[in-house]
Amino acid sequence: MTQEEVFKNVVSHCKEYGFIFPSSEIYDGLAAVYDYGQLGAELKNNLRQFWWKGMTQLHENIVGIDSAIFMHPTVWKASGHVDAFNDPLIDNKDSKKRYRADVLIEEHAEKLRQKIEKEVEKAAKRFGDAFDQAQFVSTNPRVVGYQTEIDTMMQRFVAAMEAGNLEDVRQVILDAEIVCPVSGTRNWTEVRQFNLMFSTEMGSVSADASKIYLRPETAQGIFVNFLNVQKSGRMKIPFGIAQIGKAFRNEIIARQFIFRMREFEQMEMQFFCAPGTEMEWYQYWKAWRLRWHQALGLPAENYRYHDHEKLAHYANAACDIEFKFPFGFKELEGIHSRTDFDLKAHETYAKKKLQYFDTEKNLSYVPYVVETSIGLDRLFLAVLSHAYQEEKLEDGSERVVLRIPAMLAPVKAAILPLVKKDGLPELARSIMNDLKFDFACQYDEKDSIGKRYRRQDALGTPFCITIDHESLNDHCVTVRHRDSMTQERVAIAALSGMLKEKTDMAVALRALGTKVD
Ligand code: ATP
Repeated sequence: MTQEEVFKNVVSHCKEYGFIFPSSEIYDGLAAVYDYGQLGAELKNNLRQFWWKGMTQLHENIVGIDSAIFMHPTVWKASGHVDAFNDPLIDNKDSKKRYRADVLIEEHAEKLRQKIEKEVEKAAKRFGDAFDQAQFVSTNPRVVGYQTEIDTMMQRFVAAMEAGNLEDVRQVILDAEIVCPVSGTRNWTEVRQFNLMFSTEMGSVSADASKIYLRPETAQGIFVNFLNVQKSGRMKIPFGIAQIGKAFRNEIIARQFIFRMREFEQMEMQFFCAPGTEMEWYQYWKAWRLRWHQALGLPAENYRYHDHEKLAHYANAACDIEFKFPFGFKELEGIHSRTDFDLKAHETYAKKKLQYFDTEKNLSYVPYVVETSIGLDRLFLAVLSHAYQEEKLEDGSERVVLRIPAMLAPVKAAILPLVKKDGLPELARSIMNDLKFDFACQYDEKDSIGKRYRRQDALGTPFCITIDHESLNDHCVTVRHRDSMTQERVAIAALSGMLKEKTDMAVALRALGTKVD
């Protein structure tokens, strides 16, 4: 099965089992907007919690806030979003499809990079142990050709964007002979800038109503509260403010399911530090955030860094943590050293001082900021698409299983009486009533036990607890493990301890710690 087919199956699985539904589906949906169903909401909550606890509970100097979605319109003037939160868009005249010019160019560069990788793989096979990769990539004419093509194209693109010359951006697309993936033609329109913010009006009388925006990022809610939190919490620099909340962007192309949505949720942290120390903290957060991802329980090879060459005007260092989605390595989280740009801009526009008084140095300054910013929905997609597996079993049958790490699974244990009689449901209910205070459990007595196991596999439930006739005598139950499908007998009295050990988030948090080596 191709990755594309697997991805299609993931999307339909999400709907079939109550993880994610298209928004307003009975009205044929709303592009790039999705609703989380009964299991999706649980998984999302668990991810949210793992982030929140990792950032705030593990770091004594980080606190969390919850600011409003609506903000004073000048916030977005100061942040640069009104003037510069644009994407360059281009249409193909034949397919009538709309694209982001930068994405077309980046994808073309990625194709060339893949060609280089193929050449390297071929050569590595041919030369065996004697293969010198560094020498090969610097001398092989085909590889050098591809690399030069990438470098020239990217340099021209960056220069054109920096100069705001959209005609040149279009020329880069034409010169690279990039075709529309749908029509296959190079019949492109002009490139235009498109602002991604949604706006609405506040106030009931239209003459007095003022235009306000749905926030395109949660970060600004942190910046404008910087002094409130610092003073009320008596925070000493360095310290961080974390926030989880909705953000809205009128994305030009909304593809790939919940990877790019128009309404989504961000988990952001702004770390305020003394000027001159920001690089140290940037390196700390770059390393720590990757460790956090790896503590989720997905294999390390699914992550990589992508350091930015082209920096936003306010940043002095930036990188992404990319994840291997079914459609390739893509940005999951951004880590940015934002200097003092945002606080200074708010000082200017609000005409208020946003400075920190350092009692040790006896001086005031505008702190520098390192930001970590991750999309909760993208994280959800990373976990779910990696967890989804279609397996052929030894007996020839097939199963779909979600190998969601146990601490994140929406349902931790299914309580299953083997039959609906002989006192088994009563015992099962009493076990359920005992466990449900600490663990999300599901009680199920319908259908054969085999069918119930399959159903729980498809939901990602790590443990199935089966109550049989023996249980009435030996006070033990059969615990079936989702991943290995092995079964063991466990005393009813030991169930709670076992579930805690295997599903408690605190175990992963403890292993994670706060130090970076
Ligand atoms: P991209 O280049 O993919 O558009 P970005 O660089 O604009 O992303 P940031 O502004 O750095 O993204 O936002 C931080 C994080 O928020 C991203 O790493 C991503 O996980 C998430 N995010 C951004 N835009 C969206 C979206 N439209 N839908 C879902 N998540 C998003």
